[in-house]
Amino acid sequence: MSNKKSECPICDAELILADDTLQSELVECSDCGTELEVVSTSPVELQEAPQTEEDWGE
Ligand SMILES: [Zn+2]
Repeated sequence: MSNKKSECPICDAELILADDTLQSELVECSDCGTELEVVSTSPVELQEAPQTEEDWGE
C-alpha cells in the first residue's frame, strides 16, 4: 500500500523500501552504495550489512 521509509545509517540519505521488504533482507543505499541489512520492518531499521564472502545475489 505504502512504501516504507528509512534512513541510511552511513550517510543519512532517505531510503524508500518496498512495502513487502522483509526482515534481514539486504538493500543497497542508492546514495553511498553501502549494503544494508533490514533489522526491523516496523519501523524500518537498517544497519550496515556484515561483509561476507557468500553471494546473496542469486
Ligand atoms: Zn548511504
